[in-house]
Amino acid sequence: MNRILLAPALLLAAASSAFAVETSPVVPEHPPGTAGPKLVEPHLHIARSNISGHARVALTFDACMGEADERILSTLVNERIPATIFVTARWLKRNPKAVAAFLQNPDLFELENHGERHIPAIDKPVLVYGIASAGSPEAVRQEVEGGAAAMVASGIPAPHWFRGSTAKYDLSAIGQIRAMGYRIAGYSVNGDGGSLLGAAVTEKRISSAKDGDVVISHINQPPHAAGEGVAKALVDLKAKGTEFVRLQDVADTGDDKTTE
Ligand SMILES: [Zn+2]
Repeated sequence: MNRILLAPALLLAAASSAFAVETSPVVPEHPPGTAGPKLVEPHLHIARSNISGHARVALTFDACMGEADERILSTLVNERIPATIFVTARWLKRNPKAVAAFLQNPDLFELENHGERHIPAIDKPVLVYGIASAGSPEAVRQEVEGGAAAMVASGIPAPHWFRGSTAKYDLSAIGQIRAMGYRIAGYSVNGDGGSLLGAAVTEKRISSAKDGDVVISHINQPPHAAGEGVAKALVDLKAKGTEFVRLQDVADTGDDKTTE
């Protein structure tokens, strides 16, 4: 994993996003003289329980690249907390042990598609947090299909949900990915600020999830403090009587035409 010092303004922007910055920008965000494509970061909610004191929450974790965060994985397994994990082909290759743990607990884990190379699923050239987008419809297709193919090759059932790197898209890419048969997973609670937040603030954000929320955080950054906060929040939520569901278990509503 590259560790690059970020300018404070960029770090702040990154921490407020759902995406872990991996590199710093070296070229402009879009070609000079152009406004760049209009990007959206869609929300997703699940059907509420509508029972007082009985919040229903979908925990989603991105496994972008790098390692598996055992603090989070072991808490999910030991506490029997169901979750939806978005994996890339890159991450699958490096983490066979964690993949085996997911597959050994099919009652807990739904595995879904986070792409092949972890590049933003945007069909025009643009940089998002310094990461070059796929840049064309063909490259968006490759990112989605390559992610799914790696999952199936690892013995994982074919995915039905896609979440692109950075969780940002342009509307035409959303239409394309929907036409490929996927629902697109936004979120409603940014749990760990791209895994860049501290443990205490991460714990507070996640443990205040409400009925119907979809929480995004990361399960691939064991050296980051955020993961400690994630693991604590899981225990907090369970103690409050939260009902944990996976995306495949419930009805859902996403904006920007991501699910209808
Ligand atoms: Zn990611």
